[in-house]
Amino acid sequence: MSPDAMSVRLHLRRFRVVGVVVDLIERLVVEIVDVRRVVRCPHCGFKTTRVHDVRRLEVRDLPTRGRPTELQWVRRRFACGECGERHWEDHPEILLGRRTHVTRRLARQLVRDVGAMSIREVARRHGLPWHFIMALTASWSDRVAADRRRRRCRTLLIDETSLRRGHRYVTVIINGDTGETLGIVAHRNTAAISGFLVAQGHRWLRGVRVVVSDGSVPYRSAIRTHLGHTTHVLDRFHVARWFAAGMIEVRRRIQRIGEHGSRAFEPAVFRSRYLQLTRFDHLEDDRIVALGKVLAGRPELEAAWRMLQHLYGIHLASDTEEANQALGAFIEVYQDQPLLEFEKLVGTLLEWGTEIFAFHDTDRATNGRIEGTNNKLGVLKRIAYGFVNVSNFAARALLLTPGMATSP
Ligand SMILES: [Zn+2]
Repeated sequence: MSPDAMSVRLHLRRFRVVGVVVDLIERLVVEIVDVRRVVRCPHCGFKTTRVHDVRRLEVRDLPTRGRPTELQWVRRRFACGECGERHWEDHPEILLGRRTHVTRRLARQLVRDVGAMSIREVARRHGLPWHFIMALTASWSDRVAADRRRRRCRTLLIDETSLRRGHRYVTVIINGDTGETLGIVAHRNTAAISGFLVAQGHRWLRGVRVVVSDGSVPYRSAIRTHLGHTTHVLDRFHVARWFAAGMIEVRRRIQRIGEHGSRAFEPAVFRSRYLQLTRFDHLEDDRIVALGKVLAGRPELEAAWRMLQHLYGIHLASDTEEANQALGAFIEVYQDQPLLEFEKLVGTLLEWGTEIFAFHDTDRATNGRIEGTNNKLGVLKRIAYGFVNVSNFAARALLLTPGMATSP
């Protein structure tokens, strides 16, 4: 194929193919030059056409119809007639690395692949070094994140996740308006979240109206310090787990001891454990009958179940008034049957009452989007099994979450 025909086929803006070096079924190598004759001297701004010398750079490109393609860029060094300085030319379609150079369109493909495969798989598939792929992912994700963080955010979601089960906690910060991840920072303490908020600057913080988080004291203290003007809401799914904990503890005690004083294990109580936690309005008729059989003759279990359902009612309520009624109904059962397992929960309700009830003042804000993001992070953790570096993980995770089409 002639160089001109190859130029057309490669379709690289502002490049011309000057020679086809290798044209085999399994490999294509072409020599290219920038079509510009005149360039501007970066030192003084005057124009020059004087080429001092050239050097061939290997640049990896997208495969051409499945064929691995390498460009040999005849890169020119210009000498300025005005100031005498020399400079190597740049090209907008080429990303220069330390040793590995790629076209911008290949870089985009690599970043897309990183969303679906491990860094190692991407490196192997494209025959490029692992470190190159990782560095590209990191710088790409930095730019995406910086772009996202500049935009206004009214609802901020804060949650934690871990790289390994119970290890290496990170804090995930999400724009609740768009669902985009704004940042993933190491640790889950006050300093971690404060560092992020301070870096965002006063003006951006003023724009935030609602913050949703889990029931973490360090997060709350950072939110009070930097986002004191916002309404802080406790994520309802997190609260539901607190509520269920009381029921679970009562059930465990009862299934072990038996309410009639016998030491027998009560399989019926154990087997119905999920049924006991289900919201009443989600139960089919036959399930209600089954549940009734388990609760009958077990007053403590029944009281625990009623308390749990009233607590669920706080979030099912359509407004604060109704939520207060649900809380009142809970307190009534608790006063009748002050189960030890619910004592801690009552303390928690007192400590976090404002943040729990704020749900009704904020258009029922939840961390639902964060839950969605965490599912994706879960997928990523499986893909990226073996990640030990938090910032590498963060770089990948950021590109995996919505808005990754925002290419720099
Ligand atoms: Zn000059």
